Amino acid sequence: VEVGVVTRERTRLLHGLHRAFDLERLFVVYQPQICLRTGRANGVEALLRWRAEDGQFVPPDQFIPVAEQSGLIVAIGAWVLRTALHALEQLRAAGHTDIRMAVNVSSVQFSQANFLDVLDEALRDTGVQPGQVELEITESVAVIGMERVARLLRDIKDRGIAVAIDDFGTGFSSLSYLDQLPADRLKIDRAFVSSLGSERLGARIAEMIVPLGHQLGMQVLAEGVETQAQVDILRQLGCDEVQGYLYARPLPLAELLDWLASHRPAGA
Ligand code: C2E
Ligand code: MG
Ligand code: MG
Repeated sequence: VEVGVVTRERTRLLHGLHRAFDLERLFVVYQPQICLRTGRANGVEALLRWRAEDGQFVPPDQFIPVAEQSGLIVAIGAWVLRTALHALEQLRAAGHTDIRMAVNVSSVQFSQANFLDVLDEALRDTGVQPGQVELEITESVAVIGMERVARLLRDIKDRGIAVAIDDFGTGFSSLSYLDQLPADRLKIDRAFVSSLGSERLGARIAEMIVPLGHQLGMQVLAEGVETQAQVDILRQLGCDEVQGYLYARPLPLAELLDWLASHRPAGA
């Protein structure tokens, strides 16, 4: 593709995203994370959605990179954080007092000097328990320097907030980085989960990530679980939690509340 075309497309997307943010066309949906041992939803992940003016959804994989390059992700990310923590309060009010709220944090947000202030402000304004909050980061945070990342993660954990490493295995994974990241949870990327049960290399990688995470003292969650066969293998591997369309799609808060109310763990 011609460079000019790509640039124009980016500019168009960015312009639309600015407008969407102003016009409150962005919203957040929540996908349950299920404990394989109990069958209960231990947590939910907040995922950003953009419905453009023509009614079409623009996928986050398309607009998040543009928001990151322009810096708009900083404002949007702060808004997602507040929205998700506010939703956590609503879950509590509905009787779901021990559920965890996972929020994706871009490396661009993470690298802002005032990231911890933004976090503290959101916690203060919503009054949620920090112990019910989890931040999902990716290995790409390494670009801001491992020493700084390790310090930030310690500050986050000092507040009682948990950290998950998202999309593990897809980026420039380095085992020595991983050892320096004091995280609570390792999320196996959907690409590997979908290979389970096949002879593909991805299946072997998923199998290796579970003991690797446990060895480093982390819980392991498999993303993008779509079939019972995948669940059966993940259970055998000793994976702790699962998230995927087999259980629930990302849902608006009202639908999540219905799902939580009607969801009875199998065998419980
Ligand atoms: P992610 O954080 O790894 O989120 C998981 C993605 O997998 C979500 O895509 C979710 O809808 C999708 N998914 C979950 N279960 C299944 C399944 O069973 N099958 C399939 N095919 N897909 C499944 P989504 O919502 O399109 O988000 C894509 C990515 O965009 C996210 O990947 C995350 O990296 C980013 N993103 C989304 N919301 C935010 C946000 O608020 N802030 C930041 N910085 N990034 C976000
Ligand atoms: Mg995530
Ligand atoms: Mg992921």
